[in-house]
Amino acid sequence: MTQDVPRYELIDGTRLPALGFGTYRLTGEEGTRSIMSAIESGYRLLDSAVNYQNEDAVGDAVRRSPVPREELWVTSKLPGRDHAYARALEAVEGSLRASGLEYLDLYLIHWPNPIEGLYLQAWRALVDARERGLVRSIGVSNFLPEHLDRIVEDTGVVPSVNQVELHPYFPQVEQRAKDAELGIRTESWSPLGRANALLGEPVIENIARSHGRTTAQVLLRWHHQLGTVPIPKASGPQRQRENLSIFDFSLSDEEVEAITALGRADGRNKGQDPSVHQEF
Ligand code: NDP
Repeated sequence: MTQDVPRYELIDGTRLPALGFGTYRLTGEEGTRSIMSAIESGYRLLDSAVNYQNEDAVGDAVRRSPVPREELWVTSKLPGRDHAYARALEAVEGSLRASGLEYLDLYLIHWPNPIEGLYLQAWRALVDARERGLVRSIGVSNFLPEHLDRIVEDTGVVPSVNQVELHPYFPQVEQRAKDAELGIRTESWSPLGRANALLGEPVIENIARSHGRTTAQVLLRWHHQLGTVPIPKASGPQRQRENLSIFDFSLSDEEVEAITALGRADGRNKGQDPSVHQEF
C-alpha cells in the first residue's frame, strides 16, 4: 500500500515532503531499482549528493517511475572542492547533466568547510543558480549557527533547509532552535543513527512495544514530532514501507522527552564536527 506523506511549506513557498529517502551508497542499476521501489512505496523526497556518485541513478529512477516529475522532490549537494563561486555554478550544472533532470528541487552546500572559508562564495552561487531556474530551493547542510549568521548577513537570503546529523544520541536542541528562529526547516541525516545501538535502546524498545510499532518507526516518529524531516535509507521494500508508516500514531510529550534525554555531548556517530570537518 502506498503511504501519503504530508508536506511542509518552506520559507520560499515550496512544499517539502515531511519524510524523505536517503540514497547514500545506492548506486548503479541496483541503486536505481532500490530508489524506484522507494518511490513506489510512497517516498517523494530523494536525497542525493555529488559525492554519493549516484545522481545518475536517482535521475534514472525519476524517469522510469510512473510518478510525475513535479510530484517528486530531488535534493543534491555541493561538494567542498567546488565552493569557489564559478566552480559552484558549474557544479550545479554538472548535477543537472549527471541526473538528466531539467531542474533540481533543492541544492545544499554539503559541509561548510570553514577552514577553507569559501562557503560564502558557494552560497552566493546557489542564490544565483536559483535565480537562473536551475534549482527551485536552496539550503545548507551541517551549518552551525555562526555559519548561518554569516551567509544571511552577507546575502540577506535565508536557506530554506539545514540538513544536520540528528538522532536521539545527538538531538541538536540548540541547532534546531536556531534553525527555527530563522525560519529554516531542519532535516535529520542518519535519523536511525545508521542502525547503531539506537535500534536496541531499551527506552525506545519499551515505547515501541507499548505502541505495537518497531523501534525504527518510533525513532522516525520522534523526528516528525520535533518538526524535523528524517531521510532514512533502507535498501529493500519492506523496511522502506516500515519507515514510511509513521503518520498514523503519535508519541506522548513524555515519550518524546524520554527519547530526547538519550542525547549526549559526544553523541555524533563518527565525531564529524562541522567546525573542523573537511569534506571535499
Ligand atoms: P540511517 O540512519 O538512515 O540508517 C541507515 C541504516 O539503517 C542502513 O544500514 C539500513 O539498512 C538500516 N535500516 C533502515 N531501516 C531500518 C529498519 N526499519 N530497521 C532496521 N534497520 C534499518 O543512515 P544514513 O547515514 O544512510 O542517513 C540517511 C541519509 O542521510 C543518507 O542516505 C544520506 O542521504 C543522508 N546523509 C547526509 C549527510 C550529510 O552530511 N548531509 C551525512 C550522512 C547521511 P539497509 O539499507 O540494509 O536496509
